Amino acid sequence: MKKHNFSAGPSILPQEVFKEASQAILDYNNSGLSIIEISHRSKDFVDIMEEARSLALELLGLEGKGYRALFLQGGASTQFLMAAYNLLQSNAGYINTGSWSGKAIKEAKLFGEVLEIASSKDKNFNYIPKGYEIPKNLDYLHCTSNNTIFGTQIKDFPVSNIPLVCDMSSDIFSRQLDFSQFSLIYAGAQKNMGPSGTTMVVIKEDILGKIERQIPSMLDYQVHISKGSMFNTPPVFAVYVSMLTLRWLKKLGGIAAMEELNEKKAKLIYSEIDLNPLFNGFAVKEDRSDMNATFTLANEDLKETFDTMCKEAGINGVNGHRSVGGYRASMYNAMTIESVATLVDVMGDLERKA
Ligand SMILES: *Cc1c(COP(=O)(O)O)cnc(C)c1O
Repeated sequence: MKKHNFSAGPSILPQEVFKEASQAILDYNNSGLSIIEISHRSKDFVDIMEEARSLALELLGLEGKGYRALFLQGGASTQFLMAAYNLLQSNAGYINTGSWSGKAIKEAKLFGEVLEIASSKDKNFNYIPKGYEIPKNLDYLHCTSNNTIFGTQIKDFPVSNIPLVCDMSSDIFSRQLDFSQFSLIYAGAQKNMGPSGTTMVVIKEDILGKIERQIPSMLDYQVHISKGSMFNTPPVFAVYVSMLTLRWLKKLGGIAAMEELNEKKAKLIYSEIDLNPLFNGFAVKEDRSDMNATFTLANEDLKETFDTMCKEAGINGVNGHRSVGGYRASMYNAMTIESVATLVDVMGDLERKA
């Protein structure tokens, strides 16, 4: 039986994508060859890469606006350093909203001065800092749109004329934003757009070429752009599955349709968290993530019972990250409202039982 998969990442993808991808492993497009045994220089794969790149820009509303989309390797973790390598000349500002922001800050410090201009560390990152001042003359300002571990999400992004860099690993393509406010967006595919193994980078070309240092080819955005994201062998299968997921997303109505569904799912679980006395939400209400709902049990003694009930209902992956404890329900684009309703029913059953 297919489980209700609330895993934080790698995570759920549409069932029809799994079906199509598994067929392509056996025989891609009736070619007599598997998708994973063909040359990345073959027309079949070049077409896939081009479609993935153009779908990304199209869905984000960034076509014809000076942006390029790349599908690279090394995870979002490589983007922590690659962004700084390519953009940090003297100093950059970072908003510290959790573990991933912290890791981005650590890498950037290798390349220049890093100003932590706001942080929510004082409360174990259960909120998004607001009302901070943005210093002038920064090379860029970095933020994390959705904090996968803590379950907070930026609703209003900082406004300034400094290039905005954003780690959108766990909420890319999940909600409507004016994506042209960002100069660089990166996202590991394995949360909301594909399998692990590729990282999408969307970059405004005119911010590049402004620093003095030499950049190794593999870490140079301009090299990857000039080679159409095919400087070296790309992660063929991960790009293919991401492309299928983007096709699926477009067919369903694009980001607008996803946002509507994601808001419904989030509302469903948060209203249970708020109404059910056995559960406490972790993130402050106004900053709650529509992607990752974090909550704890009011009475830890109920843990075993609740875990067993979840298991019996076919619920997978709701254990919280060790730095928060409790539970985390990740509800990415491919998750149905029925799966969220199943979890909510179990939470309600626990209350009736306890
Ligand atoms: C998972 C995650 C990362 C790390 O991604 P990798 O691809 O494992 O390097 C970075 N940022 C955020 C917000 C994440 O959720």
